[in-house]
Amino acid sequence: MENTYSWQQIAKQIEQATQQSFTITNISPVSGGCINSAYILYSKKTSYFIKLNQANCLPMFEAEFSGLKEIIQTKTIKTPLPIICGVSEDKSFIVMENISFSFAKSLSDKKLGEQLAGLHQIPQPFFGWHVENTIGSTAQLNHSSEKWVSFWKKYRLGFQLSLAEKNGYGGKLSQSGRKLCESLDYFFSQYTPSPSLLHGDLWSGNAAVTTNGEPIIYDPACYYGDREADIAMTELFGGFGSNFYSAYTNTYPLDSDYPIRKNLYNLYHILNHLNLFGEGYRRQAQSLIDSLLSEIK
Ligand code: ADP
Repeated sequence: MENTYSWQQIAKQIEQATQQSFTITNISPVSGGCINSAYILYSKKTSYFIKLNQANCLPMFEAEFSGLKEIIQTKTIKTPLPIICGVSEDKSFIVMENISFSFAKSLSDKKLGEQLAGLHQIPQPFFGWHVENTIGSTAQLNHSSEKWVSFWKKYRLGFQLSLAEKNGYGGKLSQSGRKLCESLDYFFSQYTPSPSLLHGDLWSGNAAVTTNGEPIIYDPACYYGDREADIAMTELFGGFGSNFYSAYTNTYPLDSDYPIRKNLYNLYHILNHLNLFGEGYRRQAQSLIDSLLSEIK
């Protein structure tokens, strides 16, 4: 479908945003994304990375644009510079800096840990965010909240459990999940998180190193939350080396009960995977819930 797409309109919008001429000489598809189709647009002088989806996905790209901009403003860690998002014909799109990735990912683990800690050390005004966004293609609610525990209960676990019920995963999973939600205070009796800007979807597929050796994070699902949620996600699917964790904790130590709360944070993503990809994640979700319930004395 995108073969017949009018790229010239996009090129015009890029020109307006950058105030520089941009004549497309080549378009190269990029694989590896989970949600959108992606391309690199080349002119003789420069190039941009672009993601496309249906026109009604514009709010998703606008939220990504805001997240990228806000991470850049912290001056702590590199993320692609967003150029423009909008709608052209029947597609919404986001255009950003085209990054040259290096294969030598592990070389930047230490810097990545230090820089992520730097991002998390900046105090933020509330839990939540100024716009809603998405996690995968699922809505992620970010209503601003004073209290982290009720935020996590309502807008993270509770929201995914309700979706799971609608998707046919009622019964034991939802009963035990709801029971866990009623007991969340237990996990925070000696720990009071403060809001940090989170990447929000920090698996190894969303972190890399540029050919200049700079760590970079991208494809964020930003909100202000407990930084432990970002660290937990790095552990969920692996791919972050020990130098990353030692650099992070040397810069910004973690609470000693983080390993228990880690499951609470990763349960959100596993429930989201259950809702997006189905049955294959039910057992993992149940076992995380059971293990968390067993912690409660
Ligand atoms: P999706 O939103 O569909 O999950 P991603 O943002 O993860 O898409 O991007 C898909 C792939 O494109 C990534 O895995 C990465 O290889 C590449 N990519 C992402 N951002 C850029 C960028 N700014 N420049 C060049 N390539 C990128």
